[in-house]
Parts: sequence; structure tokens; C-alpha cells
Amino acid sequence: MKLTSEMIKEKARELGIDAVGIANIERYKDAPPLFNPKNYFPEAKSVIVTVMRIPRGSYRGIEEGTHWHNYTYYAYNRLNTLFRPRLTYALACFIEDHGWEAVPHYPAVPERNPVRMPVAEGKLPSDIVMSVRIMAVGAGVGEIGHSKVFLNPKFGPRVRLGCILTDAELEPDPIVEPGTICNKCGRCVRECPGNAIPPVKDEDKKITIEVGGKKITWGDVHMGRCTLTHHGFNNTISPFHKKAFPNMEFDVENCDITEEEAYRLCYPMATAKWTRTPFDNPSGSVIEYYDYVMKH
Ligand code: SF4
Repeated sequence: MKLTSEMIKEKARELGIDAVGIANIERYKDAPPLFNPKNYFPEAKSVIVTVMRIPRGSYRGIEEGTHWHNYTYYAYNRLNTLFRPRLTYALACFIEDHGWEAVPHYPAVPERNPVRMPVAEGKLPSDIVMSVRIMAVGAGVGEIGHSKVFLNPKFGPRVRLGCILTDAELEPDPIVEPGTICNKCGRCVRECPGNAIPPVKDEDKKITIEVGGKKITWGDVHMGRCTLTHHGFNNTISPFHKKAFPNMEFDVENCDITEEEAYRLCYPMATAKWTRTPFDNPSGSVIEYYDYVMKH
């Protein structure tokens, strides 16, 4: 049945998806095996990337210091795991209603793979996860900034991305010329509270890949410092950790912890319990705010 890029975009608009970009599969031909969409759906001809905005107002309470958990629900967790996939799913069904196969893809964390061994020698493990940011570059919905954060021309970094692979051959969108949105101003380097983003001029701390014939470059972010900071272990910006551990002096900005070590430290803290007496801390939670977020 006839299916065009314009029909898909019109349906996406009707569903409430903020933007859609389309790539032909050849743009990802150099992707490593564990990231390669062809190893996921060998007959794929096109990649469709869906963009949904993070509402500006979801940051407001954090800026005011009066309401923190809105970001978790409307800008991160529920947006990424519920609102966005629901519409990606509806768009995938629309494609299948037209007689083509559509693979809706949940972004996950490709950097952590593989986590399982292949079932037999010479086979790939069952952990193929494309990098949704790289798919989005190829589909022309924005570029990866120096900070490694994906930037959309309309919403900047305030977006969540989804992805659909299909065997329908669709008209691709042009790739955004590198440097159009990120002008390498270095503000993210100066303002990163974890000191995790390398200087723009440090040529040794750059990652470069090729997508659809274009060279795409970003800073090799220190993921240990970044993980500690966005999980609240950086006392210079997290009020909750500081409250639970007022005497802890962890120099996050200069430490050389790995990403894996940082995750091992941060994740168990979200559910950690300890109390000297039930009177001074009835819930037993080591960091009460984490406990509050986990229950919602
Ligand atoms: S270098 Fe400037 S434009 Fe590029 S990601 Fe950093 S702050 Fe944004």
C-alpha cells in the first residue's frame, strides 16, 4: 500500500509528535555491529526518528528551589517511558496498517552493551541497541552538541527521541550541517557543575564518527563525573545529598571515577536504608528524597 514520508509526518502531527525526521538506512552503514540497525532489522530501508519536547515549565520548580519532582515525571522518566513511546507505538501501527513492517525502538543505554554473551561463537549478543542520538543526526532532526547532548533546531536540548525502523522506502530528510546549532561556544564546558565536558579546543578529547557522509564530532565527556553529578552525588548542586551527608567532601569535579563505579555507588543509594534508631528516621531511608521519588 502507498506510504510516503509526508503521510507519516502528517500522522505524527495529528498524534501530537513535535517533529519527525527520516533517514535512508545507508546513512548508518558504518555503524559498529552492536549499534547497527541492520543487525536488528535486516530488511530495514528507512529510519524514522520522533522528537517530543520537554516542556520549558518542567524546570521551573527546580529553578525556584520549591518543587523538584516534576522534572522526573514530565521531562524524564514518564516522558521517556510512557508519553513518548505511546505515540511512537501509534505511528508504528499506522505504518503497519499500510502493509509495511515497523519496529518501534526503545532507546535504552547502548554504551553499556553487551551485557550478555552471544548464544554461539561468531554470533552477535542479544543486545543490539542503536544510539538514538546518532539515528536522529542521520534523520536530520538536529545535531549532537559539543556536550554530547542532542540539540534540535526548535527546542534545543529539551527533547526526548524515539525511533522506528521500517522496510518502507521513504524520501529522506537532509542531515543538519554540523555546526549549524552548536557553534562550539564552550558555555557548556564552563557551566557544567561536574567539570565533565572537555575544553572545545582539546583535540585529544573529541569523538568523531561519520553519518551519511558527514563528520560528526562531540566532546569526550567524563562519564564518571557526569554520572555522579546527575545522580545527586555532587554536593555543590544537590541539596538532598548535602542534607543527608553534610560532612562528606567528595571532589566530584576533579575525581577520576569511571562511569561503572559511579553507577555502582549511586544506584544502591536510591533504595538504601539504615537507621540508628527508628525515632530519628522512621522510614529508614538514607536519602529521603530518593525514597520519595521511588514511591511515585
Ligand atoms: S558548545 Fe555551546 S552551543 Fe555547543 S553544546 Fe556547548 S553550550 Fe551548546
